[in-house]
Amino acid sequence: MKNSRSDIFFTCILLLLLYAPAAAQQDFMQLHREAVVVDGHNDVLGRVMRGGDMESWGTHGHSDLPRFARGGLDVQIFSIWVPSRERGENAWRFALAEIDSLKAIAARNPDRLGLVTDAGQLRRAVGDGLIAGIIGLEGGRCIDGRRERILTLYERGMRSFGLTWNYSSDWATCSKDESTGKVKGGLSAKGRGFVRLLDSLGVLIDVSHLGERSFWDVLETSQHPIFASHSACRALRDHHRNLTDRQLRALSENGGVVMINFYPGFLVNNLNRSRRNLVQRMHDRHAELKRQHPERGAAYLSAVDDLLKQAQKRGLPSLYTIADHIDHAVQVAGIDHVGLGSDFDGISITPVGLRDVTDLPLLTRVLQQRGYSEAAIRNILGENFLRIFSAVTGSATR
Ligand SMILES: [Zn+2]
Repeated sequence: MKNSRSDIFFTCILLLLLYAPAAAQQDFMQLHREAVVVDGHNDVLGRVMRGGDMESWGTHGHSDLPRFARGGLDVQIFSIWVPSRERGENAWRFALAEIDSLKAIAARNPDRLGLVTDAGQLRRAVGDGLIAGIIGLEGGRCIDGRRERILTLYERGMRSFGLTWNYSSDWATCSKDESTGKVKGGLSAKGRGFVRLLDSLGVLIDVSHLGERSFWDVLETSQHPIFASHSACRALRDHHRNLTDRQLRALSENGGVVMINFYPGFLVNNLNRSRRNLVQRMHDRHAELKRQHPERGAAYLSAVDDLLKQAQKRGLPSLYTIADHIDHAVQVAGIDHVGLGSDFDGISITPVGLRDVTDLPLLTRVLQQRGYSEAAIRNILGENFLRIFSAVTGSATR
């Protein structure tokens, strides 16, 4: 009797050992589908403004409505970004046209995309199976220092405001100019006034692209949790666009969120041309694996693992490197203060394993492999951002 009991016990253990990895390989997909997945920054509208299409499945770029859906993305901050060649009034008209084109796309696709301005609308849109779109301005130059233009953008639905892009203004300094010592750095009195105005409107303040001195001034001035929509960790890659550990700790104390950028140039050092070519070859190999394994089963996943390990061995940017930055940010700022900010369609190259937004579930899988709990993964994928979006948009005082 005793023997047969222990036989059953060992048979059970054996079965568990055989089948548990296969089950774990698959349940990331369920977790990814069930979680609210938020991306802090996407530049696809730039492509739309150049005549591109984001409504049908494309082979160019990194995203469009069908690919968002395939990637299990639920919430997207769409960047309203004005190219440098557009100056003066043209820059302003360009920003408004960009917002109009996003609204036209949403109007044509009521079953796929819903633009939202508060947390209630966002939850409803996600519940209805739509991609919830948030209008986010990147780089305030188009407002030409005019307060009333912030009000106009707000009325048109803007709920996230990136104070600068890679240029400074008379009210805020960018990370690029501060890093070269070109400017003294910090917010002017006008800049502080804009921060207070954005606070009173319940608009999120985005500190990605902001110089460090301006960053500290924003933190001192704003009453709200702030966020970096697409930045990574300076401790792992010394680039002015990334946040120092001191900044990460401050964001944590402020209740804010850093949304980790996927751009390889912000993730690893030494990304020269030959290494870029290697990354491209690995993307080609990944595409071939997808053709060979349309079912995306265990064989596909183990081949992807091999590809990621090869990339890691060569020090190339990959899903693992994104996870390294997430790990670091979690270690320094805490699990409640980290999110994802892809920069898709604003970047020329993506990390191995993440050719475009359709591969996003694989990042959830890597986080699972690194031992994050289901709740922790949900926080990173979206809940942290939802917390600040709800707090800030719900706090409007005008
Ligand atoms: Zn940017």
